[in-house]
Amino acid sequence: KGSLAIVGVGMTLGAHITPRARSRIENADVVFVAVSDPVVELWVQEMHPDVRSLQPLYGRESGEKSRQDTYREMVGVMLAEVRAGQRVCGAFYGHPGVFALAPHRAVEQARAEGYEAVMEPGVSAEDCLYADLGIDPGRTGCQHFEASQMMFYRRRVDPGAWLVVWQPAIAGDRGFRRFATGPAYLQVLVDVLAADYPLDHPCTIYEAATLPIQRPRIEQVALRDLPQAALSLASTLVLPPARPLQQNPDILARLAALDAAG
Ligand code: SAM
Repeated sequence: KGSLAIVGVGMTLGAHITPRARSRIENADVVFVAVSDPVVELWVQEMHPDVRSLQPLYGRESGEKSRQDTYREMVGVMLAEVRAGQRVCGAFYGHPGVFALAPHRAVEQARAEGYEAVMEPGVSAEDCLYADLGIDPGRTGCQHFEASQMMFYRRRVDPGAWLVVWQPAIAGDRGFRRFATGPAYLQVLVDVLAADYPLDHPCTIYEAATLPIQRPRIEQVALRDLPQAALSLASTLVLPPARPLQQNPDILARLAALDAAG
């Protein structure tokens, strides 16, 4: 009977893959791969004789294709092999379930059709940024938002916590078709962020190393200069808290009363 295992291969080639993820790849009948770098794809190919790239489904050449269609097709090609009785593995860069639609959908769909489906976690860009930037998300709390979602919907940002903004390079892309939006769109993102942060607030442009010989990109710009910054599809923005934590006197008083009573 067919089955599905969705695994993460981590961010840095050869450095982050878990023994479980590797074993899922090696023991599958067919492996589908969606990674950000062709060299990483070659590395996954070395682990199994039948590795099929999901990269062509993005339709980068035409510039016309919606990512929604791409994700639907990714789920479709993986599920077709599961239905044909194959043990299928989908290998995605980073953590397959972090800011990624197709892996979750594939697992849900396979389970809905009665197949066994699992997801194996991987080292994500989030994990790397805590290490590379020396951030503990527990210190003040840390919020993660997708750039476009922050623009399309009203959110309540807490400037007392860290803010991580994903996919800034395609901020404001309403058609889910583009691979870059550009300065005018980033200016809108800056205006959204300026409701909670001063314009001179430092923003770190962060890119984890994809190859073991690379160093991470860690570049600081003022919020107002973000539209002119060179952002790539691998960039994530990290904003430190803009104000200290504010005490909550009402709750503290309630707790003090409990202490006194107890
Ligand atoms: N599943 C991936 C993970 O676990 O990190 C994230 C995939 S999400 C579709 C793509 C976004 O992840 C990018 O727009 C960027 O915000 C972030 N990202 C991808 N590669 C990155 C890298 N090398 N360094 C930092 N962030 C990265």
